[in-house]
This record gives sequence, structure tokens and C-alpha cells, in this order.
Amino acid sequence: MKKTTTQSRLLVLLGLIVMLTCLIIGIFSHYMSQRDISKQTYYLSEEISTLVSYYELEQEDNWQVSTFQDIRKKHPRLISNHLIFLDALGDSIERTGESLNRSSSLIIKSGNNLASSVEEDRLLVSQAVVNQNGRIGIIQLEQSLHEYPYSLGPVTVIVKGLIVCLSVMLAGLIVYYYRRNNQPVKYALSVVEEALEHPEKQQELIVTQNEWSLLYEKLNHLMKNNQQLYFRQLRAEERLDYILNSLEMGIITINLADKTKFLNEMATTFYYRPNGLKEAINQLQERLEQSHKTYLTEEITLTLPSYKVFKAVAKVNQLNPQLASAKEIVIVLYDVTPIKTIERAHGALIRNVAHELKTPITSIVGFAETLLEEQLPLETQQAFVEIIDKEGKRLNTLVNKILELLKTEHQTPEEQLVWEEIDQLITSEIAVYEPLLKKKKILVQHDYQVSTQIKLPEQYVQPIIKNLLENAIHYSPINSTVVISMKETKEELVLTVIDEGIGIAEEEQDRIFEKFYRVGQSRDRRKGGTGLGLSIVKNCVEQLDGKIHVQSQVDKGTSFVVFIPKNHLLSRHSRL
Ligand code: ADP
Repeated sequence: MKKTTTQSRLLVLLGLIVMLTCLIIGIFSHYMSQRDISKQTYYLSEEISTLVSYYELEQEDNWQVSTFQDIRKKHPRLISNHLIFLDALGDSIERTGESLNRSSSLIIKSGNNLASSVEEDRLLVSQAVVNQNGRIGIIQLEQSLHEYPYSLGPVTVIVKGLIVCLSVMLAGLIVYYYRRNNQPVKYALSVVEEALEHPEKQQELIVTQNEWSLLYEKLNHLMKNNQQLYFRQLRAEERLDYILNSLEMGIITINLADKTKFLNEMATTFYYRPNGLKEAINQLQERLEQSHKTYLTEEITLTLPSYKVFKAVAKVNQLNPQLASAKEIVIVLYDVTPIKTIERAHGALIRNVAHELKTPITSIVGFAETLLEEQLPLETQQAFVEIIDKEGKRLNTLVNKILELLKTEHQTPEEQLVWEEIDQLITSEIAVYEPLLKKKKILVQHDYQVSTQIKLPEQYVQPIIKNLLENAIHYSPINSTVVISMKETKEELVLTVIDEGIGIAEEEQDRIFEKFYRVGQSRDRRKGGTGLGLSIVKNCVEQLDGKIHVQSQVDKGTSFVVFIPKNHLLSRHSRL
């Protein structure tokens, strides 16, 4: 019912538009033709004036058409085609072609010299004249409105064009309504086909009051449902796409029937990169197809341009149980690079630890066996026991350092952190090394310029002070000075440890923070160094989000500078 009302409203509106357009066109063309008639009248009266000037000079009474034609030749701009020369009573004396003959009465009636009128589709302009002999006559010029050169030309074309367009539209509309009412199946089919082809566009059959209305309503309902389903599916696809592309794992599906592939963003990145996954995935697909298995898992390692390890889990999915060939392979790629990197680092650490422990253990076991098996002089026995004792202590130091290193590789839980004033941490550490300092006659200068009482997490700061101080004492000569200073800038705390020791060659300075790395002669394990002290310092500085710099000159001395950002401590511990 509603649709019928809309339809009739539409028709009324269309009718109104057509009527309004016709009215506007009518008024417009009337205005234009009036304007043109007055223009034409003006031109004809101008022409008559030219003819009158000739007639008035005429002394003989033999005014003829040929005279008019002669005049026209002299005046090529004269446009009128028909001339009539009438006597005073209005009888035609001379005329060109066929023309009306009403001007005499016009002139006589109007009582004027010049008169004009439109009769049928012609314009007549007449003027009474007197020649030199006193002969009165009337010159009348006649012009068909269609021959007028300044006629409505372009406007008429536009108007005619508009009328044609409107007629075509109307005809189309009539045909459309005719088809709709008389070919309901054809009409409905075309709309339904369009709806199926373009479900995103809204299609609707206009329901009329006839036997088809119920079917149309059901079809409209179906088309609407289809459109909703289409949009729902589109949204689901978009959501799925978004989820698949946000995943931190690669997804690849390979349709085994038509070999088409789908790759999410992560898979695309590594599949198409140089030396990427392409080759490995193709091989995995081949192996899976040949093995007739439905599940396969493999590790894929990419080396260049960057190291990446993926755990690939491939599964065969039967898409259609009725169609054996309708299968796809789904490959999920887990990025296991971080785990593999840690595994590799741990492997290297274990190898290094075993290597470092081997020397003191071999030495202890060797000397102990000799002591047990051989009868040695007491002095040799004493020397061997001393070696065993020294190597045992070294072993102990090494194990303790390894444990310390492992401890500093992971962040200590917040609640387990112990907060200590920096001054306190430095003085207590110096106290530990007092005997050694005395022995080597080394003076430790302690310069502490921190305005506020700052507390720092002992777990990270103590190993830094301890290892830097230990190295400074260890690598300094007798009778030298070590300076430990603590300063505060707007953003950082700056801890500096300076010694006058053996120094570190420039080419070694980058490597001293590596685990088990020792420089030059200190590489000799018997000197007692473990090569772990600075690795521990580096780990602790990193836990504090800080930085460490080294400046050194061989045989002059070394200075280590540690920068600890204050905002990090503030936000993390609110202790400053
Ligand atoms: P180590 O236990 O051997 O001292 P570290 O990791 O603490 O191990 O130091 C690594 C190497 O850096 C040392 O072997 C040493 O050669 C050099 N080094 C560290 N600190 C200093 C220093 N203050 N003066 C000279 N050399 C140093």
C-alpha cells in the first residue's frame, strides 16, 4: 500500500515538473518572439525609409517592381523579399511575388504614415508616400517570420531539444510502467538479477495493486535479506583479515586443487624477502603431499639478511568431504628466534664455563693424585698442597662470579630490592678491600657530591662499585691512587672510578665487557682474573637503564664512568 502511494506521488511530481517546464518554455518563447518581431519591424521600417527616399525623388509616375529591384541591388543589405506598391485607394499597382494586400486599409485606418502588423506568419510594414508629381501611393514590405535572420535560431533548437528529451523520458517512463504492469516476470527478473549481481546496491520491486504484489513483497524481502547477509559476510571477512594480519605468527594456506595461496602480513614479509621462506614452504608442501600425512612440523632457519627461526606446523584440511581433491594445507609459522637466540647464548655460556672450570679442576685432580700415589719429599708435598689450595680458591671465585653473573642477567623482583644510600654503598665496599689497599699502598680518594640523600638498589649498584674498585686495585701499581666519585646532574647520577694502572689498549676497549674476555697478559689464568667482572657491571648498568663508558691509556690509567638516569629510578622506585 505504502509503495503505491510513493509511486503515485512520484507520478504527480513528474507531471508537475513537465507542466512547469512547458510553462517556462512557453513564456520564454513568447517573450523571445515579441522581441524579435519588434526588431524585425524596425529593420523593415528602415528599409521602407530607403525606398521612400527614392520614391519622393520620382518625377514621372512610372514606379515599378524593377525600380525596387534596382534599388535592392544598390542596397544589398535590404532584406525584405516582397514589396507591394499600392495607389492611394489601396489597389495594388506593382508587386513582387505573392503577397498579402491589406496595408492600405491598415494605413487608412491608423491614419499614420507608417503602420505594421503581423498577419498569419508574416510581418507587414507599410508607409504612405508622395512623389514629385504629387502622386500618393503606399509602399508595403512583407517578411515571413521564418525567413528572419535574427530569429529564435539557437533558442528554438534548445527548446526543441528539451521537448525531445522530455518526450523520450516520458516515453521511457510509459514503457517502464507498461512493462512493469504487463510484463511482471520480465520486470521482476531484471531487478532480481541486478540484486544478485550487485548485492551491495539496494534493489526493490515496486509493488502495485495486482496479483503480483505478494510475490514482489516476498522477493523484496529476499533481496533485503541477501543484502544484509552480504554485508554481514563482508564485515566478518574484514574482521578475519584484521585478526590474521595482527597475529604475531605467519599463516599460509595453499589450496591443493588450484594451487592458490593466502598469506597473512607476517608470512608475506618473510615469504617474499630475499632468501626467504618460499623455498622452504614449497619443500614442506611437497614432503607433506608425498608422505600422505595430515600433519607435519618442521623448523625453518633463515640466515641472511637477518637470523630468524620459525617453527612451521603444517596441517591438511579436507574442504569438502564429497570431493577428495578439495584440500588445503594450512601452515602456521611461530617465530622462535628469541628462544633460539637464548638457547645459543646459553650453549656458548655453558661451553665457556666448562672450559674455565677445566683448568683449575685438572690442576687440583692432578696434584691430589700425585700426592696420593707418590712418596714425595715434605717440601714438594707442601708446594703441591699450596697449588691445590690456590686452584681451589680460584675455582671458588669463578663459581661465585658465574652465580653473580647469572643473578644479574634477570631483573630482581621489586619487593626484593634493598635500597641503600650511595655513600654507604661506596664506603662499605672500600672497607672490604682495606687489607689489599694497605698491602699495595694504594690511596682511595672518595669524592661524593650528591646534594640529596639518594638511595639506590643495592642489588645492582653494589656489584658495579665492587667490580670496578676490584679491577682498579688489581690493575694498579703499588703507591698509586684510586678515585671514586659520585656526582649528580639534572637527569643523571654519574659514578666514576679512576686508577693510575696498566690501562687498556684502544682496540681491546670494546671487548672487555664480553663474558670471560681478558686483556693481554691478564689472559693468563694463573693471574687470577675471571673475565666476568665487567660483564656483571654491564648487566647491572643495563638493569638500571644506564650507560657505561671507558677511557684508558696504556701505562697511564683507566677511568670507568657509569651514568644512571634519575627519572627511571624515580618512576620505578619513587625513592629519590
Ligand atoms: P677480570 O676478572 O679479568 O678482571 P673483567 O671482566 O673485570 O675480568 O675485566 C676484563 C678485562 O679488562 C680484564 O682482564 C683486564 O684486562 C681489563 N681491565 C678491566 N678493568 C681494568 C682496569 N681498571 N685497568 C686495566 N685493565 C682493566
